[in-house]
Amino acid sequence: MSRMLLKGGRVIDPSSATPDLVRDIAVHDGRIAEPDAAAAYDQTLDLAGSVVMAGGIDLHTHIGGGKVNLARMLMAEDHRERGNPIALPANALELASCGGCAPGTLATGYRYVEMGYTAGFEPAMVPSNARHAHMEMGDVPVLDHGAYVMLGNDELFLQLLAEGGPEMRNFAQIRDYTAWTIHASKAMGVKVVNPAGISAFKFNQRKLDVDEKHVHWQVTPRQVVHSLARALKELGVPHPLHIHGSNLGVAGNIQSTLDTIAALEGLPAHLTHIQFHSYGTEGPKKFSSAALQLVEAVNANPQISIDVGQILFGQTVTASGDTMRQHANSGLANPRKWVGADIEGMAGCGVVPFRYREQSYVNALQWVIGLEIFLGVRNPWQVVLTTDHPNGAPFTSYPHLIRLLMDRSFRDEQLARLHPEVAANCALKSMTRELTLAEIAVMTRSAPARLLGLKDRGQLGIGAAADIAVYREDHNREDMFRTPSHVFKDGTLVARDGRITATPVGGTHFVEPGFDPIIEKTLRRHWQDHGAIHFDNVAISHDELCRCCNGGRLLPTACFEGSA
Ligand SMILES: [Zn+2]
Ligand SMILES: [Zn+2]
Repeated sequence: MSRMLLKGGRVIDPSSATPDLVRDIAVHDGRIAEPDAAAAYDQTLDLAGSVVMAGGIDLHTHIGGGKVNLARMLMAEDHRERGNPIALPANALELASCGGCAPGTLATGYRYVEMGYTAGFEPAMVPSNARHAHMEMGDVPVLDHGAYVMLGNDELFLQLLAEGGPEMRNFAQIRDYTAWTIHASKAMGVKVVNPAGISAFKFNQRKLDVDEKHVHWQVTPRQVVHSLARALKELGVPHPLHIHGSNLGVAGNIQSTLDTIAALEGLPAHLTHIQFHSYGTEGPKKFSSAALQLVEAVNANPQISIDVGQILFGQTVTASGDTMRQHANSGLANPRKWVGADIEGMAGCGVVPFRYREQSYVNALQWVIGLEIFLGVRNPWQVVLTTDHPNGAPFTSYPHLIRLLMDRSFRDEQLARLHPEVAANCALKSMTRELTLAEIAVMTRSAPARLLGLKDRGQLGIGAAADIAVYREDHNREDMFRTPSHVFKDGTLVARDGRITATPVGGTHFVEPGFDPIIEKTLRRHWQDHGAIHFDNVAISHDELCRCCNGGRLLPTACFEGSA
């Protein structure tokens, strides 16, 4: 039994009836409890002048799986960062890992926790590589984690979709296959990347619009997106389809994005790294911001949520399942090297180093577009704060991003340093909104928890997990969010003033939707003919998941009552 009292902090908890209130919080054996004046507490912290929030949750960050490792190998020079012991404070835990834009597993955990984050979700786990992804995430200390499994470019899915025709006569099979794949890979949801496009690339197509047919399977991205979104809805998986849309990074791709929203026909979905999908073709350079069109669509569709994938300037490495688009971008690699791969005919992968520059017209506009989206969407519950780590920037730049969103004069100063044509003409320069602490709390913990169906995380209500970040009030929001004074994970102090103090093993979030086992007949045949693993060994059991994840707790999330 341990009891702790956090006294007199300004508690920002958007899920509660009093979202912004100075009050006490009690922690009882790792859970939030009702403060009790008569109780004897083992520890009392005076938090006057501090802001208290739930631990941060990153719902889209590349922290495990094949391409993250490829990025680490490709960016060997990145591992000199923070790798020199002389430059580091004498903290043995921190010496154990390094890397800036492609950090190792240990550094990933430490850097997140030092900023007050307590959970991260890998968005692109390939089914045949799920064990590896879980092991890698299990090696990340402290953070709870989970992953979305990639579907929609795998040969079996496209074959089933083609066989069912536009009216999807075999929809039950597609739904069962989706459920089985989530189950077998112990995923938290499904991500589709460039729907049908990764596969089309292997048939020599170099682009695929939402209503364009895959030359071999004769199906369209519209069909892929709609069938997967419907399957997840019917299965009651809390996190809706996680969509990396068509034509990532292409000028004029706002049309694909709007077409994708229309293809969903009102089904819920999460559109990820939406900044990379909000480009127009106006102006002399035929590349313009379509942020306002995107914002209008999000405001009009409350069933749609987004994360931004903000870019920030400097060196990073892009790692994506989108082989088609990464192949197209490989000419821009900086430094000049890249990796492209296929993974058992199931998905793809491309890793391209990138250096975003303030004086590049395109990069400056990308920066502006991300911020215009953050500030334009009315309901913060529809927006999650991400940089699509490491694609837009490493996650360690979140405090800087938060300051840009909360401090207009700081934002205007930064804007003035950018390519002059962008700085002079963008809509951002007249946007006056400054996000509040409560809105930042929604975008960094409450909304991601709700979008994932995590009932006892991302909030500080009675009974919730005591994942807590305590920040010292500071008008410089970057300083404030960079180094919380205290970070607790399930009630254990894991960081104090930017120093790691304990490294408990994080838990694994996953869902287990039901399916008709008859689908295994089809799957067995398919894996026998095409897979490298014997079908009987594909599915990961609970025991094995626990071993993969370093003995961390299993945190299954309940599905809703399906709507089929
Ligand atoms: Zn993506
Ligand atoms: Zn991503």
